[in-house]
Amino acid sequence: MTTNKNVLISGAGVAGLALAYWLDRHGSRVTVVERAPRVRHGGYAVDFRGEALHVLDRMDLLEPVRALDTKVGDAAMVDAEGRQYATLPAEVFAGDLEVPKGELTRLLYAAARDRAEYLFDDSLLAVEQDADGVHVTFESGVSRRFDLLVGADGLHSRVRSLTFGPEERFVEPLGIHTAVFSLPNYLGLDHTGQLYVSPGKAANMFADDAAGPARAALHLAAEDLEYDRHDIGEQQRIIAERFAGEGWEIPRLLTEMRTAEDFWFDTNALVVMDTWAEGRVVLVGDAGYCAAPTSGRGTSQALLGAYVLAGELARAGDDHTAAFAAYEQTMRPFVTEHQAVGREGAQRFFMPAPSQEVLDTIAANAPENTRPGMIRLPDYAPHRLPGTPG
Ligand SMILES: Cc1cc2nc3c(=O)[nH]c(=O)nc-3n(C[C@H](O)[C@H](O)[C@H](O)COP(=O)(O)OP(=O)(O)OC[C@H]3O[C@@H](n4cnc5c(N)ncnc54)[C@H](O)[C@@H]3O)c2cc1C
Repeated sequence: MTTNKNVLISGAGVAGLALAYWLDRHGSRVTVVERAPRVRHGGYAVDFRGEALHVLDRMDLLEPVRALDTKVGDAAMVDAEGRQYATLPAEVFAGDLEVPKGELTRLLYAAARDRAEYLFDDSLLAVEQDADGVHVTFESGVSRRFDLLVGADGLHSRVRSLTFGPEERFVEPLGIHTAVFSLPNYLGLDHTGQLYVSPGKAANMFADDAAGPARAALHLAAEDLEYDRHDIGEQQRIIAERFAGEGWEIPRLLTEMRTAEDFWFDTNALVVMDTWAEGRVVLVGDAGYCAAPTSGRGTSQALLGAYVLAGELARAGDDHTAAFAAYEQTMRPFVTEHQAVGREGAQRFFMPAPSQEVLDTIAANAPENTRPGMIRLPDYAPHRLPGTPG
């Protein structure tokens, strides 16, 4: 079946860009609204696993993404003086393929740029739906009507709060707050990293090239942390206070943090919902089913979710209700599994000075080894004639 729907996507992250790409290939007309002035280029690396690699392949992006592989190997667990006491096997933190998220988003945007209309520096203010469509008002004051609205706007999704209810109902915090940022690779790390753990705190620094920049992360155990999500200065003050007096490279990291251009801070949380669709509105990626960074699965999930949602919409023609149901049915087991991995990862996050034996056991029990293959990827042939632009 073919479809010619007019679809609005909120969010130009991994899920939103991949969805724009696939919806266009299936014949929909797509508009993407993104709050940031341009596609965002975060400073951390994300993993791809299993079936997500097939989606990249079907987008002709597998080779370009492979070319970005950080190829980061085993990393060193270090004490307060920087002495290595154990080795963390790469299986614990890297997937089949690990790439810098900013570079990945750049590639996805290059693939999806000409396939959609982009409205940067704007966001949804109001959403009203009836039997025939969704009427939206943007913060810029413009109002428009679409056949469908997709929330691909991440953990703090605006579409979710406007359509399904307040964030607190769906977001399950895992008790970890994380800051990430880029910094000069002054340790000369080359395809490796160092990790430091002290009670309630953890930090690491990784680099995939001795000549390039490094990425640092500072993690804090905290159930309720009150701060303004848009106030970076306040977030950095909290981190500096909590990490004061710590060893290893922490003093230098706290200094570098203040001048980093890509500083990011947020809670590690799951998004748990009984359903991802309400009428003509549906959620994809972290907005609907975030598995938390501790799962290492969010990017794969966002990419697969976009592929399946677009494919099911194309398959079901005008019946978006059937499409949303099929999308949920295909994705749900996969999401449930990933969220379990996210919870387990959070539980062992601040394990003090783990021995080599413990680390090797964690690596041997990595979900890839013990619980492989949660999803069988359907093949949704794009509805374009061979020989026409795909
Ligand atoms: C520190 C860290 C490490 C991670 N490591 C990994 C890993 O190793 N492996 C892995 O698979 N995943 C990892 N993840 C998770 C991964 O980054 C996300 O799960 C994935 O990017 C989800 O994509 P998304 O498109 O759903 O959401 P996002 O990437 O969050 O994109 C959402 C987009 O929506 C935009 N937006 C937000 N609000 C609005 C609004 N109101 N209006 C318009 N636009 C809006 C945002 O600006 C953003 O562009 C990590 C995440 C973090 C934070």
